Amino acid sequence: MDHREPLDFIRAKVADDVASDRYGGRVVTRFPPEPNGYLHIGHAKSICLNFGIALENEGGVCHLRFDDTNPETEDIKYVESAKADVKWLGFDWADKLFFASDYFEQLYDFAVTLIKNGKAYVDSLSENAIREYRGTVTRPGRESPHRDRTVEENLDLFERMRAGEFKDGEHVLRAKIDMASPNMVMRDPLLYRIRHASHYRRGDEWCIYPLYDFTHCLSDAIEDITHSLCTLEFENNRAIYDWVLDNVGIEPPRTEQTEFARLNLDYTVLSKRRLIQLVQGGLVDGWDDPRMPTFAGLRRRGVTPDSVRSFCDMIGVDKVNSRVDIAKLEYAIRNDLNQKAPRVLCVTRPLKVVITDYPEDQVEWVDAASWPRDIDKEGTRKLPFSREIYIEADDFMEDPPKKFFRLAPGREVRLRHGYIIKCEEVVKDPDSGEVVELRCTHDPDTLSAPPPDGRKVKGVIHWVSVAHALPAEVRLYDRLFSTPDPDDAPEGADFTSNLNPGSLVVLQQAFIEPSVSGDPPGSRYQFERLGYFISDPVDSKPGALVFNRTVTLRDTWAKIAARGS
Ligand code: ATP
Ligand code: MG
Repeated sequence: MDHREPLDFIRAKVADDVASDRYGGRVVTRFPPEPNGYLHIGHAKSICLNFGIALENEGGVCHLRFDDTNPETEDIKYVESAKADVKWLGFDWADKLFFASDYFEQLYDFAVTLIKNGKAYVDSLSENAIREYRGTVTRPGRESPHRDRTVEENLDLFERMRAGEFKDGEHVLRAKIDMASPNMVMRDPLLYRIRHASHYRRGDEWCIYPLYDFTHCLSDAIEDITHSLCTLEFENNRAIYDWVLDNVGIEPPRTEQTEFARLNLDYTVLSKRRLIQLVQGGLVDGWDDPRMPTFAGLRRRGVTPDSVRSFCDMIGVDKVNSRVDIAKLEYAIRNDLNQKAPRVLCVTRPLKVVITDYPEDQVEWVDAASWPRDIDKEGTRKLPFSREIYIEADDFMEDPPKKFFRLAPGREVRLRHGYIIKCEEVVKDPDSGEVVELRCTHDPDTLSAPPPDGRKVKGVIHWVSVAHALPAEVRLYDRLFSTPDPDDAPEGADFTSNLNPGSLVVLQQAFIEPSVSGDPPGSRYQFERLGYFISDPVDSKPGALVFNRTVTLRDTWAKIAARGS
């Protein structure tokens, strides 16, 4: 029985190439981050695609290659974090870890080959002039006055560029293609520029650095990549990808670029530049703020690698850019955590309830199932019940509407894993009139005898025992932006004007059942009726527990939004 989905267009191409034996049966992909920022969930799509294809094909391999040819913005810390992120997602590059900066010698030699073939020249126009000469989409470019330098002159200048004889911007190496090409990328693109800057791996060995369009295709060729997958913005660059390989003499069958739609996610920005703006502007609490779509943020939010992978499976790979509904990601997270997160009781906005007919010094330790019946897992924990408990303040209403099936004066409700209680009296603060305590009675025959055996009442609410509960801080995270497309900002404002002011609500007086006390930071739970939570890997300490909400149980947002409009 094979119910597999039809292959996406990239997997179909790979399957064709395998079937036709185009690369001798080899499938070699690569994930090529530039180490200039932290990876985010958009990168997860590319990681799952590249590593996924390698795993799905016998003998398939996926390289992890750092595309590190820009000394000014790159750093070893981004290399380390990207490696950790790929591992966290569950993928393994084995010994296939590469750096474009290791290819600088080879790339230099390829550039010399182009010069010798009359296919590249040293240009000495200023950066501005080069831009000016390039023309526009509607107007062809003009040729640089330096375009006809002789091979000898070009070789000499290029060698001296490398030797450090010139200042930044004094010369560049350009491909000699066609200044009138309708594809702007082909109007003599820059291949090398001078940058007197230390590279995080090569130090001061080099002062000329190759550009993306030159580096990427050749790195792919050097590593014998078969399928070079990139996002749609690079569609026009495919022409230069092939041109470079053609002109340095790399013959087919060779690496080929195929583009796919990048991931855009509702209520989220996925560009390193914008994410940096959020962090540097202090608009979030760092790279691992649980509201950030970075791997670090997702981890701290409590998102599992399995749910990120199943999300990537769910959205598939397409050739048309679109925005993905964030509800899909939330669905994937809930779906996974439903199976993984044991149920516990936590009261986030406590209201004290005294069970007046329950003996003062009595404690009953109830065996409470940690999993609902439809999850195939065993396990219970001891839940203490006593005369004084906390319930959620909004599980009580003094004057409730008809459909409110929780606690109200004279009404009954079942305590999860506990008794049915009845509200007999409401105690208020004499000054403010605020409800500060409820006095209830209990039905002693109803402990842990839920329907169908026991008596049935409509509502079930969660609670904790005052004497046993552990104090906790609960951080309710929500979407970072309040509009699906954060870039859709009013005139004169940018995406930060769309930040959701309610994206973090901190509740400092929550109480959680004592069974969690020995669990390590990073433990995940379902707080019954509230959502999925993780004990904060950074801030949660014994005696000072902190929990982050990963996701609510249902899509409450849609309801709130609908009400608001
Ligand atoms: P950003 O736009 O966030 O700066 P980038 O494309 O510059 O991202 P790289 O480090 O160069 O970041 O990306 C590494 C790989 O991840 C590339 O192959 C790129 O196409 C892919 N990638 C980056 N962002 C996304 C995305 N949103 N969806 C799918 N793939 C992505
Ligand atoms: Mg990039």
